[in-house]
Amino acid sequence: MSDQDQASVVRSTEPANVQVLLTSGEGVRIDWKDGHHSEYTFDYLRKKCPCATCREHKAQTTDKTLLPMYQEQVRAVQAQPVGHYAVQFTFSDGHTTGIYSFEYFREICPCADCRADRNREEG
Ligand SMILES: [Zn+2]
Ligand SMILES: [Zn+2]
Repeated sequence: MSDQDQASVVRSTEPANVQVLLTSGEGVRIDWKDGHHSEYTFDYLRKKCPCATCREHKAQTTDKTLLPMYQEQVRAVQAQPVGHYAVQFTFSDGHTTGIYSFEYFREICPCADCRADRNREEG
């Protein structure tokens, strides 16, 4: 009983394996159940923060006028699972309100394949 049955090729948003490399500061690595592999730096994740504050901030600021405080590389100092579907990070700049669902992780996968897909969708 799902509307999604008609879409036969669906990107998996279920992780098979998640690594959060807090100590080395390298970022997050996810192996998806469909075999895809994603790697994110914490800096990338911070910039993609899905919380309301950051989305508003981005709407008001163009990429060319990034605030100087955001040009420093941000790391995550803590990561906490939110149920089975998301992760919440505490970033080194003190930001904690972003909750990253695995669906969102998959959506923002920075690999070349996914970037090409996204460009196609955006035209
Ligand atoms: Zn945020
Ligand atoms: Zn990808």
